[in-house]
Amino acid sequence: FHTLEQLGWCQPFWQLDPALYRLASPQGITQPKLIHANDDVAQLIGLDPNQSKRAAFLRLFSGHTLLKNMQPLAMKYAGHQFGVYNPALGDGRGLLLGQVNHQQSVWDIHLKGAGKTPYSRQGDGRAVLRASIREYLCSEAMHHLGIATTRALCLIDSSEPVMREEIENAATLARVSQSHVRFGHFEYLYHSNQHHLLAPLSDTIIKQHFPEVSNDLHPYLSMFNAVVAKTATLIAQWQAIGFCHGVMNTDNMSIIGQTLDYGPFAFLDQYQADYVCNASDYEGRYAFNRQPDIAQWNLSALALALTPLVCKNKLNQALAEFEPLLIAHYRHLMLAKLGLSQAQADDGDLIRAVMRIIADQRLDYTLFWRHLSHAHTAKDMHFMLSNTAEFDTWFTQYSERSAREPSNKRQQQQRMQANNPKYILRNHLVQRAIELAQTGDYSEVVKLFDLLQHPYAEQPEFEQYSLGPSDARRLAPLSCSS
Ligand code: AMP
Ligand code: MG
Ligand code: MG
Repeated sequence: FHTLEQLGWCQPFWQLDPALYRLASPQGITQPKLIHANDDVAQLIGLDPNQSKRAAFLRLFSGHTLLKNMQPLAMKYAGHQFGVYNPALGDGRGLLLGQVNHQQSVWDIHLKGAGKTPYSRQGDGRAVLRASIREYLCSEAMHHLGIATTRALCLIDSSEPVMREEIENAATLARVSQSHVRFGHFEYLYHSNQHHLLAPLSDTIIKQHFPEVSNDLHPYLSMFNAVVAKTATLIAQWQAIGFCHGVMNTDNMSIIGQTLDYGPFAFLDQYQADYVCNASDYEGRYAFNRQPDIAQWNLSALALALTPLVCKNKLNQALAEFEPLLIAHYRHLMLAKLGLSQAQADDGDLIRAVMRIIADQRLDYTLFWRHLSHAHTAKDMHFMLSNTAEFDTWFTQYSERSAREPSNKRQQQQRMQANNPKYILRNHLVQRAIELAQTGDYSEVVKLFDLLQHPYAEQPEFEQYSLGPSDARRLAPLSCSS
């Protein structure tokens, strides 16, 4: 592993047309303090994890210094925000510091909260500690849940005040991903009549992310097909795990199908299909159960942007694949949650029926599945149900169905326990970590970070962390008095 200076720094994005970016310098945050560095992510890019102990590491990722030859850039993009096209977007508070070539992969190193850029508009270019902790922990949680996501190399606090609803501390987060290109990059080129730049951008994306289509007869159509498929997989995973993104604007949609830009996201506690986690989403555009439709809408915005490269009919045909792909993948994931591996004709009914029970009884989505993974009889689930009769009926059907599998019940339960997490990043958990961190105590951030490395494992000392907010509150006085 390498030092910061020895990393395989490279600049493929800098070779693209200057219309796609502006060079900009970071503005350091005052009194930076390293909260945490992610050793796994360090190794992913070829960096010796011990490098995070260097003052040079802190200076670089708090925006105070650059490495030799580093020329950070702010990406230009546009996008549809809440359905309305906004041409004026771009990296307003983050910079691409550089790219690192390690073991055949190129990694973007993006510093979020690095100060004003040419695309900051009215913003201050800063990210607050609260939001940075949320992104740091959630991207780690998603990764270990097996869901494609941007990652983070480190999280840094400061004493720099920034104004939001109240005064908060600024922080920085070094985000790492194989691409920060968004649907909005393509929309920008299309809607600003720079159609000649669509092919070079697509060529770069194909070369780096979809090399298997580069010799296709219609590589740009194949690229779109691949984006449709990746996005369908991602959204199926969100729906199966109970993740609500909250701001599915097209500028937050990754071209490589990763979860990107963590804002007011939430994992569902008590299941509510139309849950809206974004307080400024008055119409519920990004409600949990609308995420599949919105993703398709976003893909159609991307398709429009590709019309100079691919004929409309073909794009529409590709788009029509989204729903069946998503349903098939969702079905596959839900079967795994049920411990089943061999799809059968009536599985859809079985899944719909259990989802209706979860919704009607407002069950804790994660706990329901986790307990089911350990249940031998219907009775084992009764403690969490308000209506046991409908559940018992379902459980009988389910038992008949599992008996038709080649695997035995023990194997099925192992499969369930590997597909139904015990630990998710519930909002009340991250909130407590934030409140402590705001007093300078980062221990809970670190604890959650460690816990979420193993979401499917039993971690008895962390039993409390598996509970939903109401259960946790009910148990809280108990643990104090004991
Ligand atoms: P988001 O809602 O996080 O996807 O951000 C939408 C746009 O606003 C992006 O272009 C961001 O770069 C920009 N932005 C968000 N917060 C700030 C900020 N504090 N300062 C400058 N630009 C920002
Ligand atoms: Mg964004
Ligand atoms: Mg954001």
